[in-house]
Formats: sequence, structure tokens, C-alpha cells
Amino acid sequence: MDDLAGWRVMVTAGGTREPIDPVRYIGNRSSGKMGWNLAAVAAERGADTLLITTVDPPVVSSGMDTDIEIVRVETAQQMADVVWDRVGAYDVLVMAAAVADFRPKDPLGTKLSRADGPPTLVLEPAPDILNGVVAAGHETFVVGFAAETGHIDRAVKKAIDKGVDLMVANDVTAPGAGFAVETNTVSLIFPDRRVESWPNMSKREVAERLWDVIADLRSRPS
Ligand code: C5P
Repeated sequence: MDDLAGWRVMVTAGGTREPIDPVRYIGNRSSGKMGWNLAAVAAERGADTLLITTVDPPVVSSGMDTDIEIVRVETAQQMADVVWDRVGAYDVLVMAAAVADFRPKDPLGTKLSRADGPPTLVLEPAPDILNGVVAAGHETFVVGFAAETGHIDRAVKKAIDKGVDLMVANDVTAPGAGFAVETNTVSLIFPDRRVESWPNMSKREVAERLWDVIADLRSRPS
């Protein structure tokens, strides 16, 4: 199937790592599996695909041998710089990455020593990548992911606040969903606040179905 031929799509994957010192970071449990599957499916369906990722391809997944441009990053700032610089040339952005909300304000240039005693970490907000994209007013169709721990209404509020074209909410504490597993249980939040909940399925299948929905939404006159 090459229904995405002629499309330019950008996907982000993985959790960002925010340095504390040269060897330590603040990170999160994101495995990048959802983002890698989204990029692989898009490429297989003919899209010109750019993946901005903090992690290597997952070992146990099929379809990872397709032609994807890969840019490796570590921090929210590095991911933001690539997304903001290039997003204007893309038809779709899917922000599947788990981007830090906060980062250490003054990362140390040398390794913290135990002898110095426990440090006090002062945090500052990390750049909000999605907000920057939406504020720039590109034509790009923007899909956000909302990792929640229970409440769909928080994800609905986030979808509205962030101004995305589609929000994919997943309860990362539900069995067989969220970080580091092969399956996911997601709910889609559409701009009219309609919520569509999907049963538990493989991340590969979530990716397939999501591209179906994105293709359908983009083809409708706005
Ligand atoms: O972490 P949270 O659930 O708030 O993320 C919602 C969406 O916002 C995700 O698509 C994520 O990639 C994006 N995000 C972002 N910049 C951040 C934090 C999250 O673009 N600093």
C-alpha cells in the first residue's frame, strides 16, 4: 500500500534525557516503540519520513528496514531545534516522544562527587515543542500524544490547550499499555472533543490505524 506517497511526515520518538552532570540525566520510561512503529508504517506506505529519536530502533519489531531519515537527539532543546527548524516543510508531525517538562537549570560541567553530599537540583521548564509548532502557524497537521495516569478528561483538556489536530491519549499505568511494552490502549481525541477509544492492540497496529485516521482527516476539506 502506498497511500501516503507524496506525503512528508515527521515523527518524534523516545524520552528526552536532560543532563544533571556529564554522566547523569533526568529521563523517563519511554521506549520509543510507538514512534518507531509510526515512522516505519509511514515509510512503508510511501511517505518521505523523518524520525527524530532519542533511542535506537526496538529489537522486536518488524518493518524497521524501511527508508527513514533518522536524526538522533538527547535533550528537549535538541529535539525542539530540529522540529522547529524543519517542520514547515512537512505535511504531518506526530509528537510521540515523551519530552521533558522540566530540566536541570545549570547542568554541571564535571561529575558530581558523593563526597560533596547530596546536591540540590534546581529545575526550569524545558521548551514546549508542540506549543512552538502550533504558535508558528504552520499548515502542518499536528498529532500529539498524552501519557496520562488515569483521567481521560486531563487529556481532553490538554488536546484543547495544545491546539493539536488530533490527540492520542494513553493510560501508561493500564496493563498492556504505555511505556516499554509491545501493545497499547489508546483513545483518540478529535478537535470537536469527540473521544474514540480503541481496544488493546500491538503498537504496530495502533500505528497502522492512526495513519488511516490521519489520512482520512487530512483529506477532508477544512
Ligand atoms: O508529556 P505530555 O503528556 O504533556 O505530552 C503531551 C504532548 O506534548 C506530547 O505529544 C509530547 O510530545 C508533547 N510535548 C512537547 N514538549 C514538551 C512536553 C511535551 O512537545 N516539553
